[in-house]
Amino acid sequence: MAITDKIYVKNHRQLVSQLETSFPKSAFSGATLDILFQGEGLAKLDDATQDRVLDFAEDFLDCDCESNPHCGCPQRKFVRYLLELREQGLGPDAIVDVMGEEYMLYAYPGDILSFLDGSIRTLEAAENLADVDDNPEKAQELRELRENLAR
Ligand SMILES: [Zn+2]
Repeated sequence: MAITDKIYVKNHRQLVSQLETSFPKSAFSGATLDILFQGEGLAKLDDATQDRVLDFAEDFLDCDCESNPHCGCPQRKFVRYLLELREQGLGPDAIVDVMGEEYMLYAYPGDILSFLDGSIRTLEAAENLADVDDNPEKAQELRELRENLAR
């Protein structure tokens, strides 16, 4: 399962009752993107929630793909967001706090930790391939990315 399948909407029950429409708890499930983040129910949400929902839509659902928001871009952008927080030196608990404050989302710190570990391993593998390919510049670039995540 991708990490974006393990990102959940905070206060889910409350939001369902404000919208008077049910949607899955998982933030990146297709129905949640449609109903909560692109739906017409925005006005029914309280102000604080509206702000977070709009921020999320602006930051992650802003691509021009024909199949937006079901094109995969929101997930890719969110993965980048997580990696950027890590590069700023945040650990799993702090990352979960920040996504809660910014977008009213939550995840389990253990899932974030596994995701970060997995990303580091992926970079390591890519780095080895670049070495085998005799592409030292690429290998160096990947090494720097990895070290930024691992510190
Ligand atoms: Zn897209």
